[in-house]
Amino acid sequence: AAGLDADFVVRWLTAAAAAVDREADRLTELDAAIGDADHGANMRRGFRAVTGTLAEDPPATPGAVLALAGRTLVSTVGGASGPLYGTLLRRTGGELGTEAPRVSSAEFAAALAAGVAAVGALGGSAPGDKTMLDALVPAAEALPESFDAARRAAVAGALATVPLRARRGRASLLGDRSIGHQDPGAASAALLVTALAETAAE
Ligand code: ADP
Ligand code: MG
Ligand code: MG
Repeated sequence: AAGLDADFVVRWLTAAAAAVDREADRLTELDAAIGDADHGANMRRGFRAVTGTLAEDPPATPGAVLALAGRTLVSTVGGASGPLYGTLLRRTGGELGTEAPRVSSAEFAAALAAGVAAVGALGGSAPGDKTMLDALVPAAEALPESFDAARRAAVAGALATVPLRARRGRASLLGDRSIGHQDPGAASAALLVTALAETAAE
């Protein structure tokens, strides 16, 4: 049958966890330059907990999988990225609701856009502030076109944070010295969207 089911979301988040694991050192190096050198460790801890929880007791619907994963991130990641990514997944799941066993790509794209908007509301942030939103917002905007367009937009958005001056988060304390480095959260967001596109292409 057409549509995205709970298993699709579990496979996405499992692929995301593997990518975070593989790239944790790079994420921490990026955070060492303009933050406190823990983004890789934060993301690894959070996504390992997500895959553990989902393997133990996988919910039956895509919305419920996302909501559980979001709660798990909030409760296991101490840094700013935990509540922010937790909100992304919880709100995306909340938009889908816990009842529907399958959702269309269009419904998924609309829900993800709401999740990304919730990150901006929680963080008081917008594209251009040199945060994860510089990857997430263009990805959400491109997702109605295709998963691969979203991937390309996220990767480009993450790279485009290099010349920006951070206006939110720990890196903003550096002022102009944040210029010339890629934002770690934008880099991890590109990994998550890349994992999504790869899962959709399987
Ligand atoms: P911490 O800064 O608490 O150590 P992490 O290192 O895990 O947390 O995550 C840092 C990332 O979180 C940043 O690179 C940025 O992308 C993101 N971030 C921080 N503050 C905000 C915010 N207000 N809005 C959006 N994203 C933010
Ligand atoms: Mg950090
Ligand atoms: Mg920290």
